Order: sequence, then C-alpha cells, then structure tokens
Amino acid sequence: MPRKYPPTREYVLQRTEEHHGHLIWTGRMYKNKPHIGHFGNPVRVLLELVGHPHRQVRPTCSEPRCIEPHHWQVIAENPLWHDHGPIKKWNDPRKRVMGGVTFTDREVEEIEDNVADVQSGEFTLEDVRESIKSDHVFEEIKRRVQM
Ligand SMILES: [Zn+2]
Repeated sequence: MPRKYPPTREYVLQRTEEHHGHLIWTGRMYKNKPHIGHFGNPVRVLLELVGHPHRQVRPTCSEPRCIEPHHWQVIAENPLWHDHGPIKKWNDPRKRVMGGVTFTDREVEEIEDNVADVQSGEFTLEDVRESIKSDHVFEEIKRRVQM
C-alpha cells in the first residue's frame, strides 16, 4: 500500500519511544538522521513544517534519533538565497503549550502582542487585564511580563 503523504502525526508518533525526555525515532535513518522515504525528517511533521520548504530544521540534541520538537531549532532561509520572496508564516506548535496549558494560535498571538505592549510601556498590566477575557491568557501574559 502506498504510504500516505504527508505522513500524519499519528504515523510518526507510533514510531517513537519516550526516553529520559527524548522522543526516540524507532524508524529508518538516513545519513544518521531520522528519515521517512519520499518525505524526509519526521520531526517536520511534529513541528507542522509540511508545506514550509523554506524553513530548515537543525538538531540541538546529541541523540541522533531524537525527534522531540523542543530539541530542534527551526531556521528560516534568507529570502535572498533562493530568490523566493517572503517566507510563509508558520505558527510554532511548541508555543501553544505553556505551563501545561494549551493555547490556540489566536491566543498565542494575543499573548505576544500584549506582552510586547506592556514591555514597551504602551500599556500597563492593569490595562491589559481589562481587555483580556480569558483568565488563562491573562495569567500567561502576566507570567511572561514578570519573567
Ligand atoms: Zn533529544
């Protein structure tokens, strides 16, 4: 049966094992990197980088089989390298889970905008409190501002 393209998150996770904070790929390797034939690095599936050819991944982990998304760095190509124009926006799935709470992409944006406003002195945390409806969003803004 032909393999589904792109591979699903479930397909990738079924071929991993958690090991001391690493997510170990138990599938094939190619040039010492986790590899799915006709696709490439399975960490790209977990990082939701399918359809983002101009964003590259680099391991920050010494375990060659690790595809824990937090152990990879995502690098946007310089648009001048290949003359491809602005790079398509990507929402980092790692940012959606903060302190054990899952946020939507919209909430992540709201958090980042408000943190920037408070840090630049445009608004105070009290101003922000009045405009934010969700407590968990405000708590995350407060946490980041106080970091
Ligand atoms: Zn790792």
